[in-house]
Amino acid sequence: MKHGVIHLEGAESSFERRGGNDTRYDPTYDPLVSPGPGQGKQYAPTYWAATAGTAPPDDGPVTQDMDVDVAIIGGGYTGLCTALFLAREHGIKAVVLEANRVSWGCSSRNGGQGQNASGRLSRSQWVERWGKDVALKMHDEIAQGFETFKSLVAMIDCDPQPGGHFLIAHRPRIMEKLAAEAKVWKDVFGYPSELMSAEAFRSEYVNDAEAAGALHEPEGIGIHPLKLAYGYVRLAREAGAKVHPASPVIGWETVKGVHHLRTPGGIVRARAVGIATGAYTAPGLHPSLHSKVMPILSNSMVTRPLTKAELDACNFRTHQVLTDTRTLRFYYRLLPDNRVQIGSRSAITGRDAPNPQHYELLVHGLQRKFPALQGIDIDYSWWGWVDVSHDMMPRVFQPDPKESVFYALGYGGNGVSYSSQAGRRLAERIAGKGAQQTLPIFTSPLPPHMFAPFRRVGQRMLYHWYFLRDEQR
Ligand SMILES: Cc1cc2nc3c(=O)[nH]c(=O)nc-3n(C[C@H](O)[C@H](O)[C@H](O)COP(=O)(O)OP(=O)(O)OC[C@H]3O[C@@H](n4cnc5c(N)ncnc54)[C@H](O)[C@@H]3O)c2cc1C
Repeated sequence: MKHGVIHLEGAESSFERRGGNDTRYDPTYDPLVSPGPGQGKQYAPTYWAATAGTAPPDDGPVTQDMDVDVAIIGGGYTGLCTALFLAREHGIKAVVLEANRVSWGCSSRNGGQGQNASGRLSRSQWVERWGKDVALKMHDEIAQGFETFKSLVAMIDCDPQPGGHFLIAHRPRIMEKLAAEAKVWKDVFGYPSELMSAEAFRSEYVNDAEAAGALHEPEGIGIHPLKLAYGYVRLAREAGAKVHPASPVIGWETVKGVHHLRTPGGIVRARAVGIATGAYTAPGLHPSLHSKVMPILSNSMVTRPLTKAELDACNFRTHQVLTDTRTLRFYYRLLPDNRVQIGSRSAITGRDAPNPQHYELLVHGLQRKFPALQGIDIDYSWWGWVDVSHDMMPRVFQPDPKESVFYALGYGGNGVSYSSQAGRRLAERIAGKGAQQTLPIFTSPLPPHMFAPFRRVGQRMLYHWYFLRDEQR
């Protein structure tokens, strides 16, 4: 008997048509429109791919049918950490199936800002949504997650830039909000921070011309995203996991409780499946994820190394990670080789992503913050899809207790650090040890979007509104 036969719409036929061999990077890829993430695709043209060094050994693409205890779909931070913790803490040797190169999705394209957070809600919004007791437990979970992340970063050569995180008020009117947030951090969560004036911030840390002041939190680490991912591959494989790149799941049947995951090279029959496909989840991958995640494009660029005169003109005295307070926020930092990496919002659709207007928006954002960098060469520019859930918080969840399928996703562009802990939690769940997971992010599914087909119309209107609100004096 067959349960839940899923064919990824269009994916199979498109693989068959091109023999699965077109490995060129597609800059217009769009998870809501493309049949699937592809097979064996090259990395986006990131600074990280250019500087990560040689990729670690992996287990090659799937070439034959196999039976496994646990298959993880998606080989980004979440999938790799799930496999690592399954092996290390539960003695389960999982198989990771990645469609493209390892960590081809967000995990090789992000800004490398490891923050003591996940999702898009602030701590004061947690209190509003769930009340103080739950918010305190959520704070503990995120803090534990940051410790998990730190312990892994300590084992991996990934150019860490520690010291904390600055939240920069991009307008004077925002300082009041930052002061209120800092008070909640201290009074409710016992989490210390330092509010500083524009003068103090600009003279002691960096002369961001827009900064009207800043809030500094002690936790925050910048990392090299792809070196971190390569480190996760090494650790997961050393612990006993297998990592198969160029092995997209293009069909899924469940037969007598066993999941038959079809890849171009063979069928992987698994007793349990962890889904860790982030924003790159094809609409038909699993019914529990249909219309549950909104893929949002984020743009990023890296300048050439700054000269001594430019560093002085910008007064760059910190390598810590920085974000501003816009809803469509800019995030940036000075990399170890004195280049500036900066990122922000991008296009709505994949087809429009290469439109130069989005590149210009980011260049303009850099110049507003640092007029001295007017006209500086941009050596690298790329974009990627972020998984935003409809209530702005991630989930680690088993959608149907009768089915051995689990997922972890929805970090809302804030998953560099928490994905390691989400992997740990997903591993606990798969191993049948998730009973102590009582937070709402573990006990409720990703909420659906009522007007899913019109999400992008709504996004366009929201971007317009956010822009007006962000830029008002
Ligand atoms: C430009 C950009 C900047 C960002 N900056 C930051 C930042 O500074 N700080 C921060 O905290 N977060 C940031 N993020 C978000 C962060 O990168 C993600 O939250 C995190 O990497 C998510 O990891 P993941 O493993 O869940 O997903 P991903 O890394 O996206 O991995 C999912 C993988 O699943 C694979 N896949 C999909 N479908 C299939 C299938 N059918 N079969 C097999 N494999 C499949 C994909 O190929 C992909 O590699 C940024 C994201 C982007 C795009």
